Amino acid sequence: MARKKYSKRKERARKKEKIKAKKAIAIPNEEIKRELKISAIDEGTVIDHIPTDATFKVAEILDLENHQGIVSIATNLQSKRIGKKGIIKVGGKSLTQAEVSKIAIVAPDATVNIIKNYDVKEKIKVKTPDVIDNVVKCSNPVCITNNEQVATKFYVLRKDPLKIKCHYCERSMGKDDIEII
Ligand SMILES: [Zn+2]
Repeated sequence: MARKKYSKRKERARKKEKIKAKKAIAIPNEEIKRELKISAIDEGTVIDHIPTDATFKVAEILDLENHQGIVSIATNLQSKRIGKKGIIKVGGKSLTQAEVSKIAIVAPDATVNIIKNYDVKEKIKVKTPDVIDNVVKCSNPVCITNNEQVATKFYVLRKDPLKIKCHYCERSMGKDDIEII
């Protein structure tokens, strides 16, 4: 028993040493600089002109936390058009129509660039739909969509800033009440 304890301690000590040794390895400056630069993507999608505070919401909509390819997220960049903006680059992914519609709800000015061979192959301006199906949660707790298996449905009353109305309970919701499903 005592011997086991001892060897465990020894193992821990060895692990500690290993970590220290790794830290001590000098990385050339050039390499660090290269790592810090946001990488260009050869194939994929760049979403630009996202309002800066909606950037992580867009990342959530696209489930980028679980994306296996390159993901670069930048926020608080200067934009002449919308003030501060965010940009998201996703390698090896093209967006579905449903994803584009969801993005339009939180980022009505966003542009979606489809990248092929490091070049912009196509530029799409997102468009807020007139009817939003099964994307937004109704903020009314007694709404049927929050109590039964009913998909939500909203009519867009105003596009910018967004104002929508629930088909079922007629609750109106503004930009700040909107929660994406
Ligand atoms: Zn409702």
